[in-house]
Amino acid sequence: MVITDKTLWHSIADVVVVGFGASGAAAAIAAHDNGAGVVLLEKQPADSHFSNSNMSVGMFLSVSDVAAARTYMENLCRVNPELYWTDKETIHAWAEHLSQNKEWLERQGARIRLMANGIGEHDLPGREGIDLYSFRGLGHGLMRFLKKQVATRGIPIMYHTRAERLLTNERREVLGVAARCQDKETNVRASKAAVLCSGGFEYDEEMKLNYLKVYPTYFAGSTSNTGDGIRMAQEVGASLWHMNCCSACFVLKPPDFPIALGPNFKGTKGYLQFLIAEATGNSYCGYIIVDRHGKRYTNEQFKRHTLYYELALYDSRRLEYPRVPSYWIFDRRRIEAGPLPLMFYGPMLHRMYRWSEDNSEEIRKGWIARAETVEEMAGKLGMEVAVLRETVQNYNSCCEHKHDPEFGRPSQALIPLREPPFFAIKLWPGSANTQGGPRRNQKAQVLDAYGNPIPRLYAAGELGSVYGQLYPMGGGNLAECFAFGRIAGEHAARETSNPG
Ligand SMILES: Cc1cc2nc3c(=O)[nH]c(=O)nc-3n(C[C@H](O)[C@H](O)[C@H](O)COP(=O)(O)OP(=O)(O)OC[C@H]3O[C@@H](n4cnc5c(N)ncnc54)[C@H](O)[C@@H]3O)c2cc1C
Repeated sequence: MVITDKTLWHSIADVVVVGFGASGAAAAIAAHDNGAGVVLLEKQPADSHFSNSNMSVGMFLSVSDVAAARTYMENLCRVNPELYWTDKETIHAWAEHLSQNKEWLERQGARIRLMANGIGEHDLPGREGIDLYSFRGLGHGLMRFLKKQVATRGIPIMYHTRAERLLTNERREVLGVAARCQDKETNVRASKAAVLCSGGFEYDEEMKLNYLKVYPTYFAGSTSNTGDGIRMAQEVGASLWHMNCCSACFVLKPPDFPIALGPNFKGTKGYLQFLIAEATGNSYCGYIIVDRHGKRYTNEQFKRHTLYYELALYDSRRLEYPRVPSYWIFDRRRIEAGPLPLMFYGPMLHRMYRWSEDNSEEIRKGWIARAETVEEMAGKLGMEVAVLRETVQNYNSCCEHKHDPEFGRPSQALIPLREPPFFAIKLWPGSANTQGGPRRNQKAQVLDAYGNPIPRLYAAGELGSVYGQLYPMGGGNLAECFAFGRIAGEHAARETSNPG
């Protein structure tokens, strides 16, 4: 929105950062440490502030070999020799700055620990250059730490202040942010630059419908992420990227709660057992995943951040996504192994949602279908009896022979479904966060439709993430928040002051 003679400024800072998650905190800290006066605008109230960064498991990537990490990301981003999901300069900045993540955090006193070396999720050259770390106290621990860093520096935070529009002059330079502090309009002048760090569009149904590859897609993070920064950037001419990319797989979606839950397919107890089962392919209970018509289509050992694209398959004759919803089918043994959601992920970890210990409440509500026979289950799920019966028979036969010729499920995960009653629950495409938003360059400047930087506008974090179709590895988002938050904050602080 272009300012007029009547525009009033209610407050002023050199750098205005919109959104107080990990990327906003990193941008604010870096801008301050480079000599700028900073203010943070956060739409949630202080006492209930809970971002995706809080919700996260607190794992992040650090790079031990910059050249290898560059190679890995280039491999992930290359469509053909001329076309990349993310340009090489930005990939290089990513690798270079990820290599400083660990040191940047430790220098400020963060308590982190190494989880694994050389761990890129995809088997591509260069993966050996990437290490995984985790924060003590998970996402909460991370945000507690970052909030302390912000407080130590005396950076003011305007909570309960929703940024609504970017304010520009006739030359399209960003001069500030029009916001709403509770119910009061407030214009915050940014004499150097504004940095958008307001997260993705996980809770904007129109954007998800138009931009993601399949609808519905449900997310396990903060309901505050409603694409505000995307609209604000679009208004001043930003180009968008990675809007249809999503590092996602399956989620459970309780009908009476807005946030999705992670499924605990294997009936593991605790985080360690879960990690071991993930690494070894072991399972403690039998289960299969079938499409709407009762057919298996996966070995049920899918890649956590990539399966999403398989769910987007559309049937043009039936006019439907046959894998949306999918059904998770299991027997008595899994129901007795404990709650269906993962207890250390998303709302369950933060005790935002109550799921009964023995799943009985959810069976009573009808979210989990129960049947004495596979044939009865087919009727309850609206599937052809013969199809589901054949699917289960084939699967049980694979278990007997310890060999799954069609899908290649590992033998240690082939546990038969033979102990009635049988149960089923819907699985939806979904996960942690969206990746799309305003396109940015290696300096975190937001670019217009012709690839030129929009003057004095920066972005970081999952809002216009550097990740395209393929996500490098769990921990990639927070790593990017730290890296591009710092890049944005440093460059914003180096801008000359604009007289207005
Ligand atoms: C369950 C779960 C587990 C995850 N685990 C991991 C993990 O272990 N490792 C990893 O790398 N990633 C993980 N992720 C993803 C990661 O947490 C996020 O991508 C990352 O935290 C995003 O940080 P951000 O700063 O970009 O946005 P956020 O942390 O979402 O912060 C955005 C902030 O902007 C505010 N805001 C929004 N609109 C406005 C507005 N108009 N005005 C002012 N403020 C606004 C929001 O209220 C929020 O506080 C996980 C996500 C979830 C949901």
